[in-house]
Amino acid sequence: MKRKIAIIGGGIVGASAAYYLSQLPGGDQLSVTLYDDGVGQATKAAAGIISPWLSKRRNQQWYQLAKDGATTLMTLARKANLSTDIYHQTGTIVTRTNEKDLKDLYELAQTRRHEAPDMGEVELLTAQEVQKRLPLLTNPQPGIFVSGGARIDGEAFISELLTQAQRVNLTVKQERVTLDATGNILASAGTQRFDNVILAAGAWLKDLIEPLGLTADVRPQKGQLIELIVPDYPTQENMPVLMPEGERDFIPFGHGKLIVGATHDDEGQFDLNITQEATDDLLKSAQHFDQSLTRDHLVQSKVGTRAYTPDFSPFFGRLTSHPHLLVASGLGASGLTTGPLIGRLLAGTLLYGGTPDWSNYEKNLSHYIH
Ligand SMILES: Cc1cc2nc3c(=O)[nH]c(=O)nc-3n(C[C@H](O)[C@H](O)[C@H](O)COP(=O)(O)OP(=O)(O)OC[C@H]3O[C@@H](n4cnc5c(N)ncnc54)[C@H](O)[C@@H]3O)c2cc1C
Repeated sequence: MKRKIAIIGGGIVGASAAYYLSQLPGGDQLSVTLYDDGVGQATKAAAGIISPWLSKRRNQQWYQLAKDGATTLMTLARKANLSTDIYHQTGTIVTRTNEKDLKDLYELAQTRRHEAPDMGEVELLTAQEVQKRLPLLTNPQPGIFVSGGARIDGEAFISELLTQAQRVNLTVKQERVTLDATGNILASAGTQRFDNVILAAGAWLKDLIEPLGLTADVRPQKGQLIELIVPDYPTQENMPVLMPEGERDFIPFGHGKLIVGATHDDEGQFDLNITQEATDDLLKSAQHFDQSLTRDHLVQSKVGTRAYTPDFSPFFGRLTSHPHLLVASGLGASGLTTGPLIGRLLAGTLLYGGTPDWSNYEKNLSHYIH
């Protein structure tokens, strides 16, 4: 008899866990079912920047997780044979107008590079050199280029992972489910019993675990971005991501596709309405860098819900009160970077058991789940 595993939530955590459960040794002894309704999913609305190394966050556990997450993603992209439309190491540029800030950031990058070889090359660029790499800019600023930085299309990424897992041991059910008090799944087909369940429900984790008598310190945040198609952009696929000081991020995806984002709207919570105000604000930010951009270039806006914890740190692991259940949430604004590693760690512990020590990556779960 195969072990029955369920995953609730098909964002980057759930899809990565499903992928690793299909690829790791022992996966052929599992039958995996993933439930997801996709409503408000952060992953498919995300901007797609992978570049944790120049972050000034002091939280060392978060930095370790994000740094190792970027490496995990690199390896996964190679192993899963992802196309460069899905994941591409184009490099990232962080700009600063103040000379001292720029120098400090360059020193930080040089220091971090010693422990993070996957950062690749680090270069200090003048405004003209930045413009050379991103010819579309009409108002360039000096910056730091990190060659290991990447951009990822979150929606295409999870779709590819799920397709590969479906060839091995995964069934995907597009529906919203709930739990009963013991952790069985209440689905449209009735009560479903599984040996283990991964709860990868993003910002909705709090609702999901309520029937277990538990609560999670997770709050929702609305995020919106815009997608433009600019046919006369140079057709090169390798333009780096731009993370400018004080403006929205600029993510050229090739084929003329340009993402500009994103907003961080705490009051918006679970609201999924695209607002004109946010669209205007994002377009204005884009025009700050390329004055030729107009509303005619706009093809769509995307909106999703991020999950935040009070200390802005993700959490993941096994519930002590219900040991057959594993949880993950709180990935905040960098979940595309940390999600694949979290998915891999959860898949590994589910396959091979044990109580791994993840204290280098996170605080104890009791910090976030009560
Ligand atoms: C606008 C925006 C821009 C972003 N940009 C970046 C970026 O550039 N770089 C980066 O690293 N990160 C970025 N992020 C953050 C990143 O997208 C998230 O942290 C990450 O995708 C969270 O993944 P997740 O799997 O935890 O949750 P989600 O992707 O939200 O997935 C959770 C899924 O669970 C489903 N679900 C919940 N409850 C149930 C239920 N009861 N039954 C069935 N299904 C359920 C939901 O519908 C959803 O599909 C951005 C986020 C947003 C919103």
